[in-house]
Amino acid sequence: MITKESINASFKDIFHQDAQVTVKSPGRINIIGEHTDYNNGFVLPAAIDKYIYVALNERNDDQLHLFSADYKEHYQTVLNTIDSNAPDWAKYIIGVAQLIHKTTDKVKGFNLYLEGDVPLGAGLSSSAALSCATGFGINELFGCELSRIAIAQIGQQTEHEYIGLKCGIMDQFASVLGKENHAIKLDCKLLTFEYVSLDWSEYEIILLNTNVKHNLASTAYNDRRNSCEQGVKWVKEQYPAVESLRDITLAQLDAIVKPKDEDVYTKCRFIVQENQRLHDAVEAFKNKDMVELGQLLFKAHWALSKEYEVSCPELDFLVSQAENNEFVVGARMMGGGFGGCTINLIKKGNTESFINTLSPAYKEKFNLELTPIKVKISNGTSMLL
Ligand code: ADP
Ligand code: MG
Repeated sequence: MITKESINASFKDIFHQDAQVTVKSPGRINIIGEHTDYNNGFVLPAAIDKYIYVALNERNDDQLHLFSADYKEHYQTVLNTIDSNAPDWAKYIIGVAQLIHKTTDKVKGFNLYLEGDVPLGAGLSSSAALSCATGFGINELFGCELSRIAIAQIGQQTEHEYIGLKCGIMDQFASVLGKENHAIKLDCKLLTFEYVSLDWSEYEIILLNTNVKHNLASTAYNDRRNSCEQGVKWVKEQYPAVESLRDITLAQLDAIVKPKDEDVYTKCRFIVQENQRLHDAVEAFKNKDMVELGQLLFKAHWALSKEYEVSCPELDFLVSQAENNEFVVGARMMGGGFGGCTINLIKKGNTESFINTLSPAYKEKFNLELTPIKVKISNGTSMLL
């Protein structure tokens, strides 16, 4: 188990000094609302009990001495230098430090130790956890007085400018603003949010990692974005006030987009309906109607698979099996698609038997291991005191 004591002891081993600030920042799940973020829509993420931990102290020069325990790697640089050969894990830290320095002029050299237990590349946003832990730590160490939202935005900007990934704000937002037993209903256009109580004492969430990542992801992502933009453009010709799919009704899509291009229509309709499913899911939570919520998850999955076309045989297999299990109330693929995890909502006490039958079946069909990941909904970034 990773504790403040273990982190600080490792920090001391590496840097021969005491850490001044120790921070943890969580990964996240998204309950429903997929591919809606870049369409100015809504998402429903929640922080989980898997974290990136960082410990820092101030140096009396302008150098950054960084150590990643998981990669067993040192990296050393100067605050104002950009080295394109730096390893990715260091780029997140350098990016966050430079961007905070740009807005506050308060950052100096520091030592930083990093480790974590957010599974990497499984769609749980280990990268956002890393940039938010770093941002929070630097903010504390140098008294920068940034808000949590500003730290999330700096994390997002780091992915854009230092990693080259044009991601939305959801991952960083969930990491810094997560709340135990709550999801965050986030409006990706206005950046307003509302906590939604997840009162599911009889249920638990289990993620199933397919352990595949098909290469289609980035081309498909661009294609989907283009389809959505095209649909908006056509509707806008007749309704100039329309800016994104959230402003568009199904009737408008039927009348304007369907006659022009069936595929663009199907992709746009998915987004409009996915936003609606998210609003319905929030209602279901409010009514404590887990059966309704579960049905929405299954519907979302098959729409992602058959209409938006971002699933894969491994994900579809896992969701089909979940549908056939009486204790799983809902399941769907989670994240961008073509691999990663499914999220499953299961009646407590039945997880073990579900996995014990599913794992061998998955192995037999795809010759792949299935990795179950049990998660609890947890608080956002915090200092380890
Ligand atoms: P994810 O979906 O998990 O965010 P990404 O590819 O966006 O996947 O981010 C993974 C990257 O984040 C890794 O390649 C690495 O650079 C960084 N990272 C994540 N976890 C750690 C860790 N424990 N230690 C060092 N770097 C990490
Ligand atoms: Mg990431």
